[in-house]
Amino acid sequence: MFEQELHALEACRRLRTIESFERRGGGPFVWIEGRRYTDFCSNDYLGLSRDPKLILRTRDSIEIYGMGSGGSRLLGGANLLFDHLEVHIASFLGKERAIVFGSGYLANLGVITALASIKGSAVLLDRYSHASIIDGTLLSGAGFHRFRHNDLNHLEAYLKKFDRTGRHVVVVVESVYSMDGDVAPIHELIELKARYGFTLVVDEAHAIGVFGRDGRGLVTGDEALHVDCIIGTFGKALGGYGAFCATSGEIASLLVNKARSFIFSTALPIPVVVWNLQALRFSRRLHRRRAAIRELSTGFRRFLKDTLGLTSSSQSQIVPVLIGDAEKTVEVAQALKERGVYLRAIRPPTVPPGTSRLRVSISWLHRRGAMEDLMGALRDVLSQDRYATCHF
Ligand code: PMP
Repeated sequence: MFEQELHALEACRRLRTIESFERRGGGPFVWIEGRRYTDFCSNDYLGLSRDPKLILRTRDSIEIYGMGSGGSRLLGGANLLFDHLEVHIASFLGKERAIVFGSGYLANLGVITALASIKGSAVLLDRYSHASIIDGTLLSGAGFHRFRHNDLNHLEAYLKKFDRTGRHVVVVVESVYSMDGDVAPIHELIELKARYGFTLVVDEAHAIGVFGRDGRGLVTGDEALHVDCIIGTFGKALGGYGAFCATSGEIASLLVNKARSFIFSTALPIPVVVWNLQALRFSRRLHRRRAAIRELSTGFRRFLKDTLGLTSSSQSQIVPVLIGDAEKTVEVAQALKERGVYLRAIRPPTVPPGTSRLRVSISWLHRRGAMEDLMGALRDVLSQDRYATCHF
């Protein structure tokens, strides 16, 4: 019954498969079928997911609390440690309250549906938004428009249209875009908000821990007062799992009452909550790691431009290597793997047709020679004649 669908995906090289690995460790390495590869897929930007200090500080919590939280926060799962974590997040990001969600996907689903539950709401989202933002918007049932990526003139055209109707408008952007690595013009968005008065949601999934003072992300200082919801995840730079929305007291109460992905889902395991809190505290001090990530990313972007002649709009640790054709991208990923470099091909529908790419995710763990391995392998593979026409 489903065979045809799967064949259709296979035929256009869009069939996704899971490639499992045995373990990660010893730096930026991953072991697959007994062979070691340098890994450029992971979002463990600060190298915290196996940090010995964090493991030590979290280990006891398994003995004390066990694993499962026992229920949703509203029904049996409301351990006080969640409150500690939420207070810490709110004060770190300069917001009144925070609500912890099971994951970033669930956070975006819950936050957007709750905000758009106000009658007559409309959602305006960037065309390159993450699937969780798109799904939250669709699930909300609200009217929506996708404005051209990072194009505030296009966004303003929609805002003008809605301004006359008096409808509640929610604008959702990512501070660092997950597949392009470029950043949203937060300051200009806040200026637009002052003129048009919408509810502003910024997903900082790839910025928390990496950018800003002490890793606060790209919504800085006073700007936090004007961003209604700051979404962050624990599963990336913080090396844990789960996510949060830092917001006003009023919106936090709305989430507790209307965000169904919060209300009807088991709360995070307590040792994960302990990890997240410890990781957040610890990450604040990791200035040198943040500086190293910046330096490695700048160097890699320069290499792409100067050596391979590839341009990229990336301004962060996420650097796409655009190949274009989906099949060729898979081939390049395979050729890199044969050279000991592990990257996965990102193809439509995750990215627009014709823009298949390798998404390079740069972390502090790459500081000792890993970037040179990647650059050498890329130079080697992409200099082959068969790839000469791929780049644009
Ligand atoms: N938002 C963005 C921008 C993301 O890139 C991701 C994960 N890729 C998410 C949300 C979802 O976060 P999580 O993995 O914690 O569900």
